[in-house]
This record gives sequence, structure tokens and C-alpha cells, in this order.
Amino acid sequence: MELRNCPECGRLFAYVARNLCPACLEREEEFFKKVESFLKEHGGATVSEISEATGVPEDKIISFLRAGRLISSSSNLVLECERCGKPIRIGRFCDECRSVLESSLKRDEQKRAQERDAGRGEPETGAGRSRMHTAELYRKSRSKS
Ligand SMILES: [Zn+2]
Ligand SMILES: [Zn+2]
Repeated sequence: MELRNCPECGRLFAYVARNLCPACLEREEEFFKKVESFLKEHGGATVSEISEATGVPEDKIISFLRAGRLISSSSNLVLECERCGKPIRIGRFCDECRSVLESSLKRDEQKRAQERDAGRGEPETGAGRSRMHTAELYRKSRSKS
């Protein structure tokens, strides 16, 4: 069993699956139910409207959205892409940014692989250098004579 400090209230608790103490977890569930039932009747509400009507802090509502617990059909309930600020429904990035990020990850991997290959090629370069050096010496010794 792992003991952690609750990030909400600072109390020590036995960590199970969620990083919140039982009291805060219960409170969060209450928040979630409030938001959920409010949205059933007011589908087009914005985050601030929900917060005002239910007393649930806006950042809680947003965290529900980010976690994918709240998926609203309302166009008012949106998150912002953390990269470009475009409105999104779920998660942290819009589709575009997600694919850009994924391909840049792949590019990094390719770059690392290329660097590994370049590393393997290094002895050859060394050999080339030493050949050049020898040729230079050869020329020098010839010009001397
Ligand atoms: Zn707590
Ligand atoms: Zn984006």
C-alpha cells in the first residue's frame, strides 16, 4: 500500500487508483454528478454557466472534460488545444496537433536511428582521415626531395 498526500487537501491517504484522498474523491464524484445532471437539462451550457449553476469550480469541469468523463454534444463546452488553442472536445490536443506531435516523435526516432548509423560509420571516417594524412606526408616528403 502506498501512502500519498492528497493534492487537493494535503491529507495523507492510501493510494489506490486515483490520486485523491477518499474525501476529495467523494467530493469530486458529487461535483461530477452535479455537472452531469445539470447538463442533462441544459445541454448548451458553457463551462462558466455550469460552474455558476452547480457551484463546481471551472477547473474541475475542465478536468472532467480533459479526462473524457464529460463529452458534451454542446458546442459551447469545449477545451483548448494546448498547442494551438483550437477548440477541442477531449484530451489535450486537436487532431492536427496530435498528428504533428506524433510525426515529430517519429522524426526524432528516425534521427536517433540515423545518429546510430553515423556512429557505426565513424571508423571509416577515421580511416579516411588517416589516409589523407598519409598522402599529405607523402606529398611533403616528395616536395622536400
Ligand atoms: Zn483530499
Ligand atoms: Zn492544435
